[in-house]
Amino acid sequence: MSSKVDASRPRAAETKKVHIADTQMTRQNWYKHVNWLNVVLILGVPISGCIQAFWVPLQLKTAIWAVIYYFFTGLGITAGYHRLWAHCSYSATLPLRIWLAAVGGGAVEGSIRWWARDHRAHHRYTDTDKDPYSVRKGLLYSHLGWMVMKQNPKRIGRTDISDLNEDPVVVWQHRNYLKVVLTMGLIVPMLVSGLGWGDWWGGFVYAGILRIFFVQQATFCVNSLAHWLGDQPFDDRNSPRDHVITALVTLGEGYHNFHHEFPSDYRNAIEWHQYDPTKWTIWTCKQLGLAYDLKQFRSNEIEKGRVQQLQKKIDQKRAKLDWGTPLDQLPVMEWDDYVDQAKNGRGLISIAGVVHDVTDFIKDHPGGKAMIKSGLGKDATAMFNGGVYYHSNGAHNLLSTMRVGVIRGGGEVEIWKRAQKENSEYVRDDSGQRIIRAGMQVTKIPEPIPTADAA
Ligand SMILES: [Zn+2]
Ligand SMILES: [Zn+2]
Repeated sequence: MSSKVDASRPRAAETKKVHIADTQMTRQNWYKHVNWLNVVLILGVPISGCIQAFWVPLQLKTAIWAVIYYFFTGLGITAGYHRLWAHCSYSATLPLRIWLAAVGGGAVEGSIRWWARDHRAHHRYTDTDKDPYSVRKGLLYSHLGWMVMKQNPKRIGRTDISDLNEDPVVVWQHRNYLKVVLTMGLIVPMLVSGLGWGDWWGGFVYAGILRIFFVQQATFCVNSLAHWLGDQPFDDRNSPRDHVITALVTLGEGYHNFHHEFPSDYRNAIEWHQYDPTKWTIWTCKQLGLAYDLKQFRSNEIEKGRVQQLQKKIDQKRAKLDWGTPLDQLPVMEWDDYVDQAKNGRGLISIAGVVHDVTDFIKDHPGGKAMIKSGLGKDATAMFNGGVYYHSNGAHNLLSTMRVGVIRGGGEVEIWKRAQKENSEYVRDDSGQRIIRAGMQVTKIPEPIPTADAA
């Protein structure tokens, strides 16, 4: 990177221009690299909550309320910040937008505007230096390191958030973010349990502080765990992955490989049995008339991606297998030479003009030694293809691994046509490997030969 600032540059008048994140961390300046506000919000607050929990007993009602509020604020992030504002995967009426902006603010993860801008950069520049929480920088970095350590905002990839600037709810929440955080993060959960059943401190500690901690950690897992644990059924070129554990932790955001492929789909889980309460919430809001225009990719498009990825995996498996030397790489033998070598004790057998050395296989032949020996030095095409025994697909595959030559002219059974078929007409995969389908081996002739003629 030519534009990278040289960290060893003397700290003269240039100092102001160099962002701290672009300088080397040393024993003298490490504290300048730390984003202390975020350290307080992400680490300090939960620690203080744990300490207070020692002398504030947990009441059952408060515990239930804390869990309910955990879901409210978590869904504010997943259904609101993420699927509504960052991805526009559906539209919401004003009351629903106000609700999501409020409870989302209670999760204490920054304003919608800030969150969605980073998240759009994450999708656009996944796994690159412009990805604000690239998992390539480490699992811990993608989880919270990117917030605890200062980042040069200029290095984060640019994204368009003009649509968000037109949403008055988003703009209002951004301008009044601190008030939103204090009200929805601490005051509301405290008021509910205080006015409801007199447990002011319990509401503050459990439904407030500790609940914030759990919601934060859960949703941070979308950036870390969802890029680290699980399968990649749609595309394995980038890090996003699908896993049920991530889904359970993140209110349904765990089908992240799907999500990165189809980000504007309001769903993360597409199967009915997969856990995606965020999807269920959006769908319920639609039934209540609060949400509309739920976007969904056609299953035809989704299945295409799945099949392509499967094909890639199959190609990788196929490339590891021994399919026999391609015909055009085999030496050409004269028919008489083939017959002579077989007479002199080499276990050669010609099938469809391809010569196979079965010397080591004779003793293992399932049909017996005598049967296979009767074909040595002859054209055994018909014998192999039903004349004596209609060999299985597995037998044709095994036979191809014993190839040692092709007969010149192939007068016996149209060898060159078959050789050409294998060399030119076979479909090849991305890496140029021939795809040999069952029943398509060159030694296989299309119709079984019914009469027994073992001579
Ligand atoms: Zn992601
Ligand atoms: Zn996303």
